[in-house]
Amino acid sequence: MKVGLSIGGGVSALQHLEPRELAADGFASVFVACYEDEMRWHAEAAADFSRACQSAHLEVYAVPLGYGLINDPDPSTESLYVREHPQNCQVDSRGRRTHRACPNNPAFLEWFSSNMRTLAWLLECHGFLWDEPSLYFARGAWACRCRWCQRLFFAQHQQEMPLEIDDRVERFRRNTLLMFILAATAAVHAVDRRLLSMVMPTSSASSRQAGIAADALQPLAEASGVDAISVFVPWQSEHRDMEVALRSTCEETVAAARAHGRSAVIWIGGSPHPRDRLLDSLEVARKAGVEHLVIAGHQTLTASVAYERFREALASAIKGVA
Ligand SMILES: [Zn+2]
Repeated sequence: MKVGLSIGGGVSALQHLEPRELAADGFASVFVACYEDEMRWHAEAAADFSRACQSAHLEVYAVPLGYGLINDPDPSTESLYVREHPQNCQVDSRGRRTHRACPNNPAFLEWFSSNMRTLAWLLECHGFLWDEPSLYFARGAWACRCRWCQRLFFAQHQQEMPLEIDDRVERFRRNTLLMFILAATAAVHAVDRRLLSMVMPTSSASSRQAGIAADALQPLAEASGVDAISVFVPWQSEHRDMEVALRSTCEETVAAARAHGRSAVIWIGGSPHPRDRLLDSLEVARKAGVEHLVIAGHQTLTASVAYERFREALASAIKGVA
């Protein structure tokens, strides 16, 4: 089993990281958050970091955030595209424009694809992670009912799109996201066919209706354009027993992924604090057949003051599960 580290926080976080030290601590991969608004001006910093990782033999995965806000579960992330193109944003079931671009809008899709190609050119990376792709869904209102979505729905069903969510709308929304993932993968594959495409379904109960739910992996595992399914196990915030939650999610994800020739990547929150049981988690994931475990993230683990005292134990635990 290889162990990776996710690095959020943008380019300022990258400046404080030494890829060689991460490799010495046993990490095999890094997942780097690439924010739309930062990549406009500081893409070179991300590219430099990616090159340094390559020479330290770390696999790099880009995690595009912002970019129309389809891929981002964090409401504080900004997207200049959304601010400048309200006409290309999703329309909810009450007829209001939301602050998220519509993945069925051709102009947005073209802009998104072109940005992903640029990112794939700039970063020497192993692949891309599409983080929790979802459509707007809040307080009983759902999207998208823009003219492009309505037209597409009518073409598929020869009926107007209903105002209430029913099975057909649910399927339409899920297929919209699967088609978006396919387009995103096609964009980076235009640069390099070998780039891996990973998808993180939505893990929290509150957002499961917005996106592709982590407890219904079948459609995702069957979808083309998906090489790996990447599932976050939020056992701490859900107050679950670590072993029970991690083992069951690992086993389910590995089974769903393998049935369709995909690989499984499991994410856990981690810190040096004993309550996060990071060292035990590595062993539980390995026993459940996981090949790639990612620790989220850099801020709580490698950037924490307690890391210096913890790193030796972590390095030896990572070696133990390798
Ligand atoms: Zn739409």
